[in-house]
This record gives sequence, structure tokens and C-alpha cells, in this order.
Amino acid sequence: MNPARDALLMAAGNRWLGEHLPRYRFVRATVRRFMPGERMEDALDAAGRLAEDDIPATFTYLGENVRTAEDADAVLRHYLRLLDLIEERGLDAEVSVKPTHLGLDLDPAATLERLHRLAARSAALGKHLFLDMESAHYVEPTLAIYRQLRDEFDNTGVCIQAYLHRTPQDVADLLAADGSIRLVKGAYREPRDIAIHDPKKIGQSFEKLAIAFLRWAGGGRLALATHDLGLLAEIEGRAAAAGFGRDAYEVQMLYGIRTADQRRLAADGFRVRVLISYGTHWFPWFMRRVAEHPGRNVWLAIRNLFARR
Ligand SMILES: Cc1cc2nc3c(=O)[nH]c(=O)nc-3n(C[C@H](O)[C@H](O)[C@H](O)COP(=O)(O)OP(=O)(O)OC[C@H]3O[C@@H](n4cnc5c(N)ncnc54)[C@H](O)[C@@H]3O)c2cc1C
Repeated sequence: MNPARDALLMAAGNRWLGEHLPRYRFVRATVRRFMPGERMEDALDAAGRLAEDDIPATFTYLGENVRTAEDADAVLRHYLRLLDLIEERGLDAEVSVKPTHLGLDLDPAATLERLHRLAARSAALGKHLFLDMESAHYVEPTLAIYRQLRDEFDNTGVCIQAYLHRTPQDVADLLAADGSIRLVKGAYREPRDIAIHDPKKIGQSFEKLAIAFLRWAGGGRLALATHDLGLLAEIEGRAAAAGFGRDAYEVQMLYGIRTADQRRLAADGFRVRVLISYGTHWFPWFMRRVAEHPGRNVWLAIRNLFARR
């Protein structure tokens, strides 16, 4: 494990830092790299700008581990309103939610009910609903919820983390259920007995899982959610050799990261989609982004610290 990444991921879970750091101007300036703003409107406007380049969007309203059912219900209402506005603006956009933001820590059955409401509304609009994958502790309950959701709604998908040792088996199970998958490397701090730590081996696992999904040729969507252009090129080559073109899968990236490459890939015939996160509860999510690329992002924070007001 990279010690800087490790320290930043520990900080992501620290409540004191989460309450204090966001008050500093330089931290707020740095988060702007990854987020168009805190309001729903900011995210919708950003999706409108992406649409000019024919790039569709996925929205995530930031937050996790809500502590009351009322808070989880408020998150559900927020997403239902968001879906209305997506429809009103005619955007090619869908949502991806964190199960703990909808109450997974409190009551899995009530969480499933809320997800049902979101999946049904998304289906009525001809859109998918995706589940984010959180830390390893939540993988089993998230997949259990996804299986139940998938039984009823084929417009649903789940994020799968290539760094987990358990993932090849999970993917085999999801393939049998014709699930849709957003494949990522994995963003959390996990011990070695649970997750691969070597970046090269994580890339190899990602590639194997992507090719396995394509070969299965079920009805589900495959999204390769990575900014690793080398890995995408490897997969493109192996997929082509197996008879799959660029339209057999999507490439998904985060708002603000490799923006020029997002446009270039879309212009080159890849199906690119950008995930836009927004909201006021951005601290843990922001720290995970910083941890993914500590050198560049810590330097950006230092520059913002000394920038003139
Ligand atoms: C659409 C999408 C959805 C995701 N959903 C989840 C999820 O539900 N659960 C989960 O655990 N993880 C999720 N992730 C995060 C993922 O697990 C990785 O932590 C993240 O994508 C970084 O890995 P990478 O594949 O981009 O490769 P890396 O090897 O980390 O990055 C490749 C290159 O991309 C650039 N880059 C990548 N990240 C950053 C950054 N933060 N800042 C600046 N430059 C950067 C750098 O140039 C870097 O060299 C998601 C990622 C994406 C793109």
C-alpha cells in the first residue's frame, strides 16, 4: 500500500477532519476540480455542457451512512426530484446511488424499498439505476440488495471492484443473472486478505473481468469506469481480438478528470459517460479522489492554500 494513499484514506473516515477541513477556503477551492458545485442545479448544468459533446452523464448526490430513516427518505425524495429534472431538461442522464445513503446501515428492507421506488421511476423514464460499491463491509449486503432489485428491474446495475479477491466469483454470479456492471479498480482502504494491493495486479484483474463479461455476452451493460488509458487500450485490443468493437462496452470517467481525453474518446467512437457528483457532504468522497492521485492533488491543494483571494 502506498503510505500517502493510506494516510489520505484514513483521513477520509475521520469525523473531526470531516467537520473542520471543509471550512477552509483552499480545501473548497480544491474540491472544485472534481465537482461542478454543491447544488443539484450545478450538476444539471454541467451535464448540459457535456451533452454539447454528446457525452451522457450519471449523477451522484454525495453522502453516505445516514443515521436516521428520515434522512434516508429525504435522500430518496432528492433523487426522485432529480429524475424529474433530468426528464424536464431532456438530458441523457441516469443516477448512481450509495446504498448507505439510502439507509443500508439502518434497515436493509427499507433501503430496498427506496431503491425499488428509484428503479421504478428510472424504468418509467427509460433509464438505468446503478448502485455504487462502498467499502468491503458493504459488498455482501449491496449484492444481496442488487440481486433482489435485478429480479424485478432489468434497468439496474451495480459497481464491482476489481481489487477485491472475491470479485471473480461475484462477477460469475452477476453474469448468470444478466446483471449490468460498472467495473472499477476500487477506492477504499482494504486489508491484504480482502483486496489486491499491487496496482499492476489490480489492472490485470480489471482486464480479466472485463473480457469475461464480454465473452459471456449476456444482456447486461458493461461500463469500464477508469481513467487508466493504458488499461483501456489493452482491453480494447483484447476485446477486438475476441470480436468485440468499441460499442460493446462503455467508458466512464469522473467529472473533472482527464476531461480532454473524455472528449477525444467520445469523438473516436467510444461510448463515454461522465459521472458528476455534487452536494454538501463531499469530504470523504473528496479525500478518496485526492488519495487516487496524491502527488497532483496535494500539490493543487497547496497551490490553493497560497493563492491570492
Ligand atoms: C465513473 C466512476 C465510478 C466509480 N464508482 C466507484 C464506486 O462505486 N466504488 C469504488 O470503490 N470506486 C469507484 N470509482 C473509483 C475507482 O475505484 C478508482 O478509485 C478511480 O477510478 C481511480 O482509478 P483509475 O481506474 O482511474 O486508475 P488510476 O491508475 O488510479 O488512474 C489512472 C490515471 O488517471 C488519472 N487520475 C485517476 N484518478 C485521479 C484523481 N482522483 N485525480 C487526478 N487524476 C486522476 C491520473 O492521471 C492517473 O494516472 C469510480 C470511478 C469512476 C471513473
